[in-house]
Parts: sequence; structure tokens; C-alpha cells
Amino acid sequence: MSHHLESYLHQVFHELHQYPELSNHEFKTTKKLKDELEKHHINVLDLPLKTGIVVEIGQGEHSIALRGDIDALPIQEQVDVYYHSQEDGVMHACGHDFHATAMLGAAILLKESEHKLKGRVRIIFQPAEEVGTGALEIIQTGVLENIQAIFGIHNDPTLAAGIIGCKAGALTAGVDRFSIHIQAKGTHAARPQDGNDPLIVLAHIIQVFQTIISRRINSSENAVVSLTQVHSGTTWNIIPDTAFLEGTVRTFNTHVREQIAHEIRQILEGIEKTFAVNIHLDWQAGPPSVMNDANWSSFALEVAQDHQFDCQTIEKSPIGEDFSFYQEKMDGAFIMIGSGGPYPLHHPKFKIDTNIILPSSIYLARLAERALIFIDEQQS
Ligand SMILES: [Zn+2]
Ligand SMILES: [Zn+2]
Repeated sequence: MSHHLESYLHQVFHELHQYPELSNHEFKTTKKLKDELEKHHINVLDLPLKTGIVVEIGQGEHSIALRGDIDALPIQEQVDVYYHSQEDGVMHACGHDFHATAMLGAAILLKESEHKLKGRVRIIFQPAEEVGTGALEIIQTGVLENIQAIFGIHNDPTLAAGIIGCKAGALTAGVDRFSIHIQAKGTHAARPQDGNDPLIVLAHIIQVFQTIISRRINSSENAVVSLTQVHSGTTWNIIPDTAFLEGTVRTFNTHVREQIAHEIRQILEGIEKTFAVNIHLDWQAGPPSVMNDANWSSFALEVAQDHQFDCQTIEKSPIGEDFSFYQEKMDGAFIMIGSGGPYPLHHPKFKIDTNIILPSSIYLARLAERALIFIDEQQS
């Protein structure tokens, strides 16, 4: 059975990998997963979702949730495998094809032992993680209202293949995106005194932003401020009217997150006055930091250990994850599964070691069963 299940899951994985779809456009992926789940008589819930699905296995009053995401990225794949992406400029470079397949495998395994389950398991195949909106869409359907604990997974290419990693507290970063528009006054490059040069302003912003972490944030905290694109000007003999910058802030708690946003506003106000320009800041708050519940994190590692998986406590990571929106509503743990590297997430050569697919499904199924037993024992 398990050899059969393994080759079946590999087939599904290859197909998902070949037809990656961008956030909120996961139509074929949703249909493929739905077809496969229904083939195994798994109850696909009727929800007002454009893409993504939630299934339910088991019955009774206790309920927990598992979450895998399904969307891909706008990256041209450079991986030399026979099942490489067939979609130009779109690639599963974050391994969400693996997350979806692992959850499918877990659903099949849980279905096989459904009569023994001490409650319900709802498995979320979440769309639009990369744009940070999918978790909120799922929450808005109300499908998670009575869920007592939620577990999510992400592959981690910095861990050896198959290692299960978790930690209590902050695991991923809070993500903010900002853009800055400078409105100054263009002129002939030979007569700068007739204008107001936005390039000087831009250069100041870049410089002063480097002092936010180094001079303003307590050394015991971790945070990142990165400026990632700047644009201005058209040619060599014109001082332009405007300049544009964009970047991101990564933090691990609300306090530092708010402090950095405040520092950025203050710096821009100061520079605006100093140079007599107009500066407009566009702030897009992304998901907060994934905050793992201490009990469920050690529970997740205990289950891994009991079933002979290699596991370890891991460090926090500055990536963003919208799993944190679920954790604002309920306790749970986000778990990393080693995918073997060598290339990082979001890299055109990123690749999953497919040997981790079946073990991940088995782990998730055991984790769900055991979590329900634990909740049942606590409440009886
Ligand atoms: Zn990603
Ligand atoms: Zn991801």
C-alpha cells in the first residue's frame, strides 16, 4: 500500500510541479486536487472560494486543522528535471506543490483510519500565500470557527531532507512592504539652482535608513530594513522631477514592527522639510510573525520523535508566512520539513527532494490523530 501511495503521490507532485499557477489563479491546481480527493471519497466542503479547497475527515465535537498552500511564483524555472514547469515564467519555487501533495497524502491516510479518529480534521489547501491574502480568505469563510488547534508546514532547504523542525514563539518574520514617492522639481542639468533635485533626496533616504537598525533598535532584537529598488531620471542632462524607492521591513514582534514604521515616517518627514520636497509613503502591512504556541510546538516534535523522524528545534527565519493570520484566531504550530537544498526558496534552481513526500504525509496524519487524542483526553 505505502509503495503504491508513494508512487501515486509522486505522480501528483510531478503534475502540480509542471503546471504551476500564480496566487489567486490556482484553478487547474484546485481542480486537480479536488478530483484526486474525491477519487478517495474525501469530503470536499462547499465554500465560497474562487481557488483553494478545504476537506473534512472524521466526525465528533473535537476538531483540528492542517494547512498546506498551493500557489507558485513568477520565476522562470532553471531546474533540470523531466517534470519541469510547462508554464513560461511561472514556477513552484517555494515548494507549495510539495505542501499540497503532502496534505493530499495525509488526507488519504486519515481517510483510511477515519473510524478511529477522535474528532474531525479539516485540511486546508490554501491559495494565495505568496501575496499574503489566502489565509484571510479561508478564515472569512468561517470554516475554522470551532477549530481547537492548527498545524501548517513549510519545506526548508537549509535543513537536511526529511528533518522535522519546530520552535516555540516567533518562527517567521512580520512582513511590511513600503514604497516612497519623491516629488521634487526637474530642470536642466546645467542649471540645478532652478530646480530641486530628487536624486539628492533619494540618496539621503538610502543613507539614513541604514541607521534604523544600527542606531534605533535594541541590540537584543532582530529586524531587517531592505531597500530593493530605486528609480529616477531619464537621461544625462536632465535633473528629473521625481524619484521612487521600494523596500521591505522584517520583524519578529509587534513592538519593533511599530517602532520601525514610526522611525521611517519620522525620517521621511525630516527629509521632506530639509529639502522642501513632497514625499509620499505607501505602507502595505503584510502578515505578522508566525507565533508558535509552546505546547503545540513541543507536541509536534514529540510526535515526530515517537514515529522515528529526525527532528530538531530550529532558529527563527526572516521569511514571511500568512499562516500567522490563523494563529491570531487559534493556537497552533508551524512546522518546517527539511527539503535538502542546495538552492534557497524562491530561487530558479530550487528543488524538492521527492523522498520527503510520503514521510511528510505519514507524519501529518499521525500528528492530526495524536492531536485529537490529546484534546479528547484533556477534555474528558
Ligand atoms: Zn514563498
Ligand atoms: Zn512558501
